[in-house]
Amino acid sequence: MIQSDVCIIGAGPAGSICALFLDKFGIPCTLVDKSKFPRDKICGDGISGWVLTILKELDPPILEDLCKQPFLLPSYGIRIVAPNYNILDLPFFNDQINEIPPGFISKRIDFDNYLINKVKEKRQIQLLEGVEIASYVKADEGIELRATNGEMINSRLVIFANGANSKFMKDPGQINKDKKFLMTGLKVYYEGITGFHDKNYVELHFLKDFLPGYLWIFPLTNGLANVGVGLDQKKISKKKINLKERMLWAIDSIPYLKDRFKNARMVSKIQAYNLPLWDGRRKISGDHFMLAGDTASLIDPVTGEGMGHAAISGMYAAVQARRSIENKDFSSGFMQQYDNDIFNRIGKELKISSKIPQFIKYPWLFNLMVNRALNSKILREKLTLAMTDLEVRKKLNDPKLYLKVMIGL
Ligand SMILES: Cc1cc2nc3c(=O)[nH]c(=O)nc-3n(C[C@H](O)[C@H](O)[C@H](O)COP(=O)(O)OP(=O)(O)OC[C@H]3O[C@@H](n4cnc5c(N)ncnc54)[C@H](O)[C@@H]3O)c2cc1C
Repeated sequence: MIQSDVCIIGAGPAGSICALFLDKFGIPCTLVDKSKFPRDKICGDGISGWVLTILKELDPPILEDLCKQPFLLPSYGIRIVAPNYNILDLPFFNDQINEIPPGFISKRIDFDNYLINKVKEKRQIQLLEGVEIASYVKADEGIELRATNGEMINSRLVIFANGANSKFMKDPGQINKDKKFLMTGLKVYYEGITGFHDKNYVELHFLKDFLPGYLWIFPLTNGLANVGVGLDQKKISKKKINLKERMLWAIDSIPYLKDRFKNARMVSKIQAYNLPLWDGRRKISGDHFMLAGDTASLIDPVTGEGMGHAAISGMYAAVQARRSIENKDFSSGFMQQYDNDIFNRIGKELKISSKIPQFIKYPWLFNLMVNRALNSKILREKLTLAMTDLEVRKKLNDPKLYLKVMIGL
């Protein structure tokens, strides 16, 4: 039996960043993952500014070192393709982190392994790879975890950060996902796609068939690109959509995509995975435990971005662990501060995002917005600002904005 003060289940961005913060605070921990690294994670591979902000809070030299890694492609903006195929390019603002590109794209196998290598440098982190936690029982002074290989870990505090399919989301967590807030995402690697923006913009193609979801094309290093689609499971089952067929149909049939994929070749399998979208504030902690990352259902409901929020929750889980250890209080009531920390940092942003799909699901409205933005420098600037400024983004879920756009104000 392993005895631990803090045990983290899952060494994705949420778990590994949590372990690195604990190490910074001088708190030893056990970090368990069922996989052996390097391991892949089905993802769009887009690394947003939030991840970089949190790594800077962790340790600026790590961020500087990460930015020099050859597997990262810097990205300076976002390309939005409307249902009528009009293209709107919006640069990212980069006022948070000077001299560091605003975003990156990296295969997860490389990015996650980079973080794990940092974890392996730390003596206070006991990393157990290839160990799958199957169940838990509440113990007198904490939680007892049981692995499929018979290994047992007794920990005063457990952080469940084992991703989107975690059964711990429901128990001991209390999160039951409605299909409307559970997205299925497909991902495949291609080489030889042409027509990218010269500053490596990430591309979101809001095609009629996928609204309010989208098809993405994210450029990677070495002439590769990550291509995928995401759609909520309620729509998939209601309309009996075969997502894989529909994605391949779009690539093969829509003229501008067909042209860009003319000399492209698929270099991986098409793989699918779940995205638990944020669907309102929920309790994500309890006696002796916290949920983090996808297990806490923190994915942005418009962009599908989850890595940044996983990083934020990893950091705050470590902050709460320090508080609990210092105060010898692991009760649900005390743990509530973790929920509050996360909500204070990203709750407003998530709340706004959760309202936007109801507007962008209409192709005609989407087309109109993009057409107007193409003809209005002010609207383009507002949309660019909306990516970083919450007060501006709030306006995107105000029906008055759409009314004004419609009547050309
Ligand atoms: C198709 C798709 C595209 C996406 N695109 C993007 C994107 O471009 N940008 C973005 O920011 N987000 C994207 N996301 C979301 C992003 O992948 C997740 O939000 C992010 O990986 C969450 O990190 P995490 O640490 O919570 O979980 P994960 O990264 O899933 O890590 C969980 C870890 O737990 C381990 N584990 C699982 N079960 C157990 C167990 N029982 N015992 C021990 N270990 C276990 C796993 O091996 C894994 O290493 C996408 C998701 C999908 C599905």
